[in-house]
Amino acid sequence: MSDDAQRWKDKYLSSLEQQEKLERRWELRLDLLRRGLVRSSLAAEGADKAVDQCMQEMRDILRRDDMDAALGGLIPRLERAVLDSEQRRQQRAEEATAALAGLVEQLQRLQPPREVRKALKSLGKQLQAAVGQQHQLPALLSQLRNLQGQALTVLQAPAQEQPGLLQRLFGSRGDAAEQAQPAEQVAAAAGETQQIAAELLDSPAAPVPAPAAALSTAAPARSSLAPRAALDSLPLPPGLVPQPEDEDSPFSLPTSEPGYSAVAPHIASSLRSLLDELELPARHRPQGEALRLRLEGGLNWYELVPVLDDLAVLVLAVTDSGQREFAGYLKQLNERLEAFLGTLSEAHEGYSASVESARSFNQELRDQVTDLQNRVQEAADLEALKQALEQRLDGLLQSVSVHQRQRDSREEEVAERLQGLVQRVADMEREAQQFREHIEEQRQKSLLDPLTGLPNRAAWSERLELEVARRARYGGELLLAVLDVDHFKRINDGYGHLAGDRVLKIIAGELHKRLRKTDFIARFGGEEFVLLIPATPLEGGMQLLETLRAAIEACPFHFKGEPVTITLSTGLAEFRDGESAEAVFERADQALYRAKGNGRNRVELG
Ligand code: GH3
Ligand code: MG
Ligand code: MG
Repeated sequence: MSDDAQRWKDKYLSSLEQQEKLERRWELRLDLLRRGLVRSSLAAEGADKAVDQCMQEMRDILRRDDMDAALGGLIPRLERAVLDSEQRRQQRAEEATAALAGLVEQLQRLQPPREVRKALKSLGKQLQAAVGQQHQLPALLSQLRNLQGQALTVLQAPAQEQPGLLQRLFGSRGDAAEQAQPAEQVAAAAGETQQIAAELLDSPAAPVPAPAAALSTAAPARSSLAPRAALDSLPLPPGLVPQPEDEDSPFSLPTSEPGYSAVAPHIASSLRSLLDELELPARHRPQGEALRLRLEGGLNWYELVPVLDDLAVLVLAVTDSGQREFAGYLKQLNERLEAFLGTLSEAHEGYSASVESARSFNQELRDQVTDLQNRVQEAADLEALKQALEQRLDGLLQSVSVHQRQRDSREEEVAERLQGLVQRVADMEREAQQFREHIEEQRQKSLLDPLTGLPNRAAWSERLELEVARRARYGGELLLAVLDVDHFKRINDGYGHLAGDRVLKIIAGELHKRLRKTDFIARFGGEEFVLLIPATPLEGGMQLLETLRAAIEACPFHFKGEPVTITLSTGLAEFRDGESAEAVFERADQALYRAKGNGRNRVELG
């Protein structure tokens, strides 16, 4: 064999060896892949019937030798089955959310205590936000279980503790019977729904149940996803010819949820008024002026954060300097009081000295008079008597005038000191008065809600305490009402927060101007107002609240020329003897809740 042939032969043999190695590695990998696929297909089993079937086929194919061709046919089918299964899973998650929302509504209808109700409302919103997001359901489910426990614990309390509630629950009143269910039923329904939800979550292969009508209505429109759709359900009178735009009208709502550029002037003007309100100490005024110039020059997005930071520094400086100013004032007051005491003790010493000198003057006079008496008795003739008298009288006159001079200068000194004291007392009184006024001004500011200008919740608590104490002392009627704007979230979602703010401001003004001086209205928070009406019987209170309700409904709000009706729901309760303010509030709040349940835009008695 030639060299050339030998070289080719070696090359062929080494390639063959290489080829065998590669084939062994390939077989190994293929085997691993097969085993992996079989195991994953077993693990995925149970997710969906169609997918399961494809998986079974795949396992069979993997055991065969003509795997390539068979897999080529199977994979597109598997892909479709997986997509379909995913869609069904999504649908089931949505239905589970709707079922939970339905359960939340049922529990709400049982009128549990305020905190549970609020928590249920918030859970309802979370459910809306979590529609179709399966991974969130277990957490929401567990929240619901807790709330349900709390609600049912209250409901299962002895009948005499919760008469109104049990009456409602067991349907002894016609209207309530439709809405309420016995606690057991609700508990059973709750268990059932949780079961359904759990099944849907754990075994998605279960058949998809047709959504129950009640549950589908219970799952509210996803207003955050489709705000305009939510708007459609706002109570706008149908068929009304759009009115021409009237931007000047106070009832005209801002026409769009603004982008930053649109709200920038609003932010700048709010920050400017905040800056105006700040009583900057002298050393911070230049910073304040610089900030004002920045705000007046327009505020772009990038400047907003630094401007807010600088403003925060100034606010802190003002608070700090206010405290320091007050501490300085107290220190000064202390020093003045010390000086005052010093002057007083000097005046006292002066007085003691003058008493002492009066005594010695007295003594001197006595001595001179005694001496005069002796000399008069000793005098032998008239001439001697005359001389003795003249001498002594001179002495006496001198003593008197010396004493008088001393007394005059001492009196002058004391008068000056007293004048100084009077001046100091007056200064201190004036400054104390200024501080008192400043503190009162700050206190008043802290009791006002900045958006509506109405008293805030802190002011409400003060006034409530006062009115309750007054009633306990003098008796008389006292009514308490809780007012809540209907579907306010839709106003925000549909027209923007600026519009929402304007609505709140206008409503506050409209309510306030219809009240008597002795009535008290406050913004309790968000879109809730509270009202105290003293010396008014329940019927009078109902009439007043009905007037307020009608007035708000009649407000000609409009948005881009289209009328927008805004309404209020109200709960009213009267104070009964021995009842705490909290209990009356709870009754009014329950009545408000009923007003919402009975269609909103109405007043209910608690
Ligand atoms: P309901 O008829 O049941 O009372 O529904 P609602 O939408 O009025 O009640 P909900 O409590 O769901 O929503 C109140 C909304 O009010 C939510 C919150 O964003 C909004 N809100 C609270 N305070 C203000 C505020 O100062 N300005 C604006 N624009 N919105 C506010
Ligand atoms: Mg509210
Ligand atoms: Mg509301």
